[in-house]
Formats: sequence, C-alpha cells, structure tokens
Amino acid sequence: MSFPATLPIPDEVLEIARRLDDAGHEVWCVGGAIRDTLLRTRTGSSALEPFDVDFATSATPEQVQALFRRTVGVGIKHGTVGVLDRHRVLHEVTTFRRDVTTDGRHAVVAFGVSLADDLARRDFTINAIAYHPLRHEWRDPFDGAGDLARGLIRAVGDPAQRFREDYLRVLRAIRFAARFGFEIDAATWEAARAAGPSLDQLSAERVRDEWFKGLRTTRSVARLVDLWTRVGAADVWIPFRAVSFSAAEADRSPRDPVLLTSLLVADPAGALRRLRASNAEIARAEAIQRGPEEPAADTPEAVRRWRAVVLGAADDLMAIWRHRHGAVPGWAAAALDSRARQEPVTRGELAIDGSDIAAAGVPPGPAIGAMLDQLLDRVLTDPSLNTREQLAAIVRSRP
Ligand code: ATP
Ligand code: MG
Repeated sequence: MSFPATLPIPDEVLEIARRLDDAGHEVWCVGGAIRDTLLRTRTGSSALEPFDVDFATSATPEQVQALFRRTVGVGIKHGTVGVLDRHRVLHEVTTFRRDVTTDGRHAVVAFGVSLADDLARRDFTINAIAYHPLRHEWRDPFDGAGDLARGLIRAVGDPAQRFREDYLRVLRAIRFAARFGFEIDAATWEAARAAGPSLDQLSAERVRDEWFKGLRTTRSVARLVDLWTRVGAADVWIPFRAVSFSAAEADRSPRDPVLLTSLLVADPAGALRRLRASNAEIARAEAIQRGPEEPAADTPEAVRRWRAVVLGAADDLMAIWRHRHGAVPGWAAAALDSRARQEPVTRGELAIDGSDIAAAGVPPGPAIGAMLDQLLDRVLTDPSLNTREQLAAIVRSRP
C-alpha cells in the first residue's frame, strides 16, 4: 500500500508540531489516528473525521511542559503530556520511550531513545506507523501499511514475548481484529492462545475497559465473543453462556456494554463486579437478572404489575427480550403506553400518602404501609381509582 503524499492535519494541531520542531525537537504523528486515516484512504472513503492525533517526540515531558502554556499531566510517568490546542482540545504528546522492564502488567520506561525504538515497543504493526506532519515523511519499519492492506493484526517482533510483556495486548489484538474485520496473523494468534491462561494476571479495570471498548467498536458482537472464547479470555474473565440471541439485532443497535454483558453472561452482575464496574452498572445488571423477564400476560393489568416489580429495569428487560427473540415483544406497546399515561406503579405515585391514611384514622405503624400496599394493588387493577377521593373512600371503608 502506498502512503498518501500528505495528511490533512488541522492547523491547530500543526501548531503544536511546529512549536516542538522550532525548538529543535523531533516530532511525529503516531498511533490510532494515523492507522485509521490510512484505513479510510484504503477503503476509498475520503471523509476525514475530526482527528485527535497523538504525537511522539524526542522532547522530554519537562521540555514539552515548558514549551506550551496549557498542559495537563496525563501520564507524566510514562512520558505523556496533554497539550491543549487553541480550541482547548487535548492532544497527547509522548516522549519517545522504550520499555525497560515489563512483568505482564506494568512497564518501566526509559526516555532518550529514537523514533525507531519507540515504534518497536508498540504492540501491532498497524499501530507502529509514524507520519511527520511538517516534512510529510512516513516511517513504517514493520510494514504496518502492508498489514492494513492485507487486513491483518500482527505483533511487532516476537509475539510470545510481546504478550508476556503485557498480556493486555492479547485483548487489544482481538479488539482491533473485531473492529476492523481483520484476521489475526497465525503466529500472533498462536502466541495469543498460549497466553490465554495468563490473562488472569491483568488488573480487572484494564480488562473491563477492553471488554467495554471491544463491545462498543466491534463490527459484530458474535465475532468478538468468539475471539474472546477461543483465546481463553472468556474462561478467565467472562464466562459466556450459550446464547441464542439475534446477533443481527445486537449489531444494529447502539452498543451498550452493560446490556450486552447481561445478554451474554449467565451471571452478569457477578462478572461486572469481578471486572470492578461501577456500582450503578452492577445494580443495573442485578435488576436485569432479577426480572421477571416479561409480564405474566399481555394484558394491560399484567403489564402494569410487571412494571411495578421491575421499575427502572423495564427498558433494559424490553431490550434484552428483543435481542433474545429478534422481535419486539407483544407487550411492549402496553408497557410504553402505561408509562406514557403515568399510571402509578409505586406507592409514591398514589394520589394519597401515609399521612392522609393516618388522618383517616389508621393507627401509625405497619398498618399504614399495609394500607398503601392495598391501595397500590387496587390501582394496579384499575388506575382510574387513583384520585384522592376514591382512595380516601377505600381507606374509610376498611373493615
Ligand atoms: P484507539 O482507536 O482504540 O484509541 P489506538 O491505537 O489509538 O486505538 P491507544 O490505546 O489509544 O490505541 O494507544 C495509542 C498507541 O499506543 C497505539 O496505537 C499503540 O501504538 C500504542 N499502545 C497502546 N497500548 C499499548 C500496549 N499495551 N502495548 C504496546 N503499545 C501500545
Ligand atoms: Mg487512541
């Protein structure tokens, strides 16, 4: 594959490169933006998405900080300084680095190395291409452009060693393959599978980020699941269940990682807890798991009673049903209608409250709650009863 003569890099990004270059530092554009731009060139779609370029530079983090007024220390330890352009968009500027020691989870890095060293420590050939934004030169020592053209994920250097240095690369290989619809080079795949059992050494947060990113970006959820399974990552982190869900459906909708995890995993809340997802995400998965997955019948009353049990999980359960059956459930219209009419499904939505009930002479204590439950039950059968007068009459007529 040949390189385009120039890449249309926005002026505000060029300004950052020019300032580093003027100060005598080497500066190159690297990483995902360059890869994605080349890929778009290849597929003939010339539309350039606004891109947020990563720079690699010979300048040290201190030198970068001294050159720019507005910087953010995003990862100083790893040599990364965030530089805000004049539109206050952040661009990462990372000092050329080489990994000195790695233990599969952490890296100690050395600065003061060349672009060639910096590219050599990157994970895959397609991620190790550099473009000089001022001189319009390309550096592609591992034929990443060739692999982009072939549709291949290939490790830079010896794949087994590269995975041992950082097992997350196994999951990254899968993510990129699934996202671009690429194959994984045979030697890289073999090493990835051999590394599968070692994925248990990764931190839960990094695995979760990869899983969520993978779900959001993959062309096909089924392919991502298949790769996670075959590489052994599923055994270690996310035990999938045999799902017969409509993959086409999952592939069309905006990707929601918590929803998809609930669909794909037997114990989604447990898996998300293990992946250290947020409390809100775990609670959402628990509510989905609790169900019931559908109303007992398609009648308006059964649907209201179901809403009263599942509460905030109704939309998720509807979406799960759709994924599983590849169709909109027959009761969906009734559920949406019930909500649109604001039919009461909780005690709090009743037209009277505990103090009204006490005022009607019910003794304070559990009797009040029991009465509210009774009223809600009546209203679930017939929502038109939900007026102050009618509910008060029911309270007064109590035995
Ligand atoms: P994305 O579109 O997901 O952001 P990206 O290629 O930009 O893709 P980043 O995670 O943003 O991925 O990393 C930027 C670059 O840093 C990568 O292109 C790669 O060169 C390098 N890199 C990132 N993570 C690793 C890793 N674990 N091992 C080696 N190189 C890595
Ligand atoms: Mg990136």
